[in-house]
Amino acid sequence: MAERKLQAPRGTFDVLPDDGQRRRELYRRAGSVLGRYGYRPFETPVFEDTDLFARGVGESTDIVRKEMFTFEDRGGRSLTLRPEGTAGVARAYVEHGMHKLPQPVKLWYWGPFFRHERAQAGRYRQFAQVGTEALGSDDPSLDAESILLLAELLEAAGVHQVRLRLASLGSFDARAAYLDKLRAHLREHEDELSEEVRGRIDANPLRAFDADHEGTRAAMAGAPQLLDNLSPDDDEHFAEVRALLDGAGVSYDVDPTLVRGLDYYTRTVFEFESAKLGAQSGVGGGGRYDGLVEQLGGPATPAVGWAAGIERILLASEGKLGGFPAPVYVAVADGGDRREAFRLVTALREAGVRSELEQAGRSLKGQLKHAGRLDARAVAIVGDSIEWKDMGTGEQRPVTNILEAVRIAQGLDA
Ligand code: ATP
Ligand code: MG
Repeated sequence: MAERKLQAPRGTFDVLPDDGQRRRELYRRAGSVLGRYGYRPFETPVFEDTDLFARGVGESTDIVRKEMFTFEDRGGRSLTLRPEGTAGVARAYVEHGMHKLPQPVKLWYWGPFFRHERAQAGRYRQFAQVGTEALGSDDPSLDAESILLLAELLEAAGVHQVRLRLASLGSFDARAAYLDKLRAHLREHEDELSEEVRGRIDANPLRAFDADHEGTRAAMAGAPQLLDNLSPDDDEHFAEVRALLDGAGVSYDVDPTLVRGLDYYTRTVFEFESAKLGAQSGVGGGGRYDGLVEQLGGPATPAVGWAAGIERILLASEGKLGGFPAPVYVAVADGGDRREAFRLVTALREAGVRSELEQAGRSLKGQLKHAGRLDARAVAIVGDSIEWKDMGTGEQRPVTNILEAVRIAQGLDA
């Protein structure tokens, strides 16, 4: 019997070189934008105590209820592959006493995340996110800055046609009062709701705004809006965020139905969507989470952040990301000195010139053909001496030694 063919697990993918190139270039551009805004790189483990996500992300969320990869280690501890980044960062902020540092503490991360979801285009079980967190200040300029930062990063990534949805969830107290109103509305319309929404009236009534179910949508059209029920402080905070965005020329739609799938959000929430992505339209989003650090055992610490999906950014990108300059190809003539060729390619690389060496036993004719395939800008043919062939002009000339070859190659760069 044939053995089962080995494949990458469902919902995962290999990054092949062309894509690898684009990811690296995106990473470089992201780092440059983030650095300009004063955010510093930060890393947390890819697995954490399951409890962190249960407490941090919220028991009633889809992520915790159905999407986590949870396992027991050999010591019987329950661990979970991180489904999102904020809980880990908040945990680390508490663990390292980072509230004692000058505030706000501004961090960014990039790495793999794991959710057990139905795999489809733009939705994977292992995916990568880039994200920021600014902890230790409730200043509305941090909310505005976070949004601007993500907008600028998307622009730098070549993601142009995005829609920004914006709302405020208010602080917990105002929200609690509102949620009671919403629950009352849902109970009034109970028989029109989907089973799922009905089952969560108590635990997570806000999710009803997110439903695809037709009856639910109809019932929600007349529902009380959180935005109309904010406290005066929350109202003022949200107005200031909007004014700052207006001043920066960022356009957005205030969307009272915007619900983010995590329990920890307070006040500002936002999401960038791209029409290029079809059903999985969310490119990135985030918001304020003023209660999370305290909930994880730290001091009361307001904070704001976002995360964006790398694969979705790349799917939505219209820009040319990456690509190296054309190489110099070092060929070896029949009977040519292979060690001299190796010394030449090494010298070129040390001088910063991207170069490749014949390494597959091709004839000289085969090598020249291969140089064409690599789109080489020049070929150095090592025989009794070195011949330098400029692939642009077709001009060929002898060079006396490796040093001269390096100088010519660097001249091409200048
Ligand atoms: P969605 O509504 O698409 O499920 P989400 O609200 O669950 O997204 P967030 O938790 O806000 O997503 O994560 C931020 C970003 O991470 C998303 O906007 C998206 O770009 C990306 N993302 C989330 N889940 C996945 C996934 N399973 N595969 C690929 N990217 C993802
Ligand atoms: Mg999701």
